[in-house]
Amino acid sequence: MIDVHANLDDVRFDEDRAKLIKQLRAAGIRRLINSGCSHEACAAAIKLAEEHDFIYASVGIYPHDVAELEWNGTGRLKEMAKHPKVVAIGEIGLDYYYDTASKPMQKKWFHTQLELAEELNLPVVIHSRDAMKDTLDILREHPNNTGIFHCYSGSVESLREVIALGWSISMGGVVTFKNARVAKEVAAAVPADRLMLETDSPYLAPTPYRGKRNSALYLPEVAKCIAELRGTTPEEIERITDENALRMFRMV
Ligand SMILES: [Zn+2]
Repeated sequence: MIDVHANLDDVRFDEDRAKLIKQLRAAGIRRLINSGCSHEACAAAIKLAEEHDFIYASVGIYPHDVAELEWNGTGRLKEMAKHPKVVAIGEIGLDYYYDTASKPMQKKWFHTQLELAEELNLPVVIHSRDAMKDTLDILREHPNNTGIFHCYSGSVESLREVIALGWSISMGGVVTFKNARVAKEVAAAVPADRLMLETDSPYLAPTPYRGKRNSALYLPEVAKCIAELRGTTPEEIERITDENALRMFRMV
């Protein structure tokens, strides 16, 4: 199984990170992409990827932290993105839920980082919260980019636009929550070649572990839930999502 979005550098893993990574490997996690959201987190993601063969990194500055780019520009980010184990630019995007950075500033750096991804020929990991319309409008202006919406939280209608633009989605623990009606509809509707699995660990542990520290050890619960919604087997979900992730992120 492949986890396309984890935050193993989080302080909640400080106590037992090495042990957990061994457990993930033993449990059959073939690849894991650790996602950066600030310069510091990106550097930590790269360090983890250097230490473990099955861990890869994605580097980008997340909407709440784009002020870092106002001060530093994209020079350091670009250098990090050239690392051989960096497989994507992200997570980047728009987040209107918290107003930690102004909308114009978020949009400006979303555009700039999409251009960087195009220049480096890397796929993109999108973070979009309460900002689907603006996110899609910006992506339409960048037809040469592709990638995934991580923790996709939009409607089935927006999903159709995401798919039409050539993008994919990844889903995690939320789909298992009892009240997650829209996520369940999305899981049933997404084309088989556009779906990947993620944890967003340590956040969003699936049922029956909801509220606990999440990790890819719980990813089988997500595969099981999506399989039921799609009328197929967990093995088949694992097979298609692995294939999609390996292809999208060119992980050998
Ligand atoms: Zn995110």
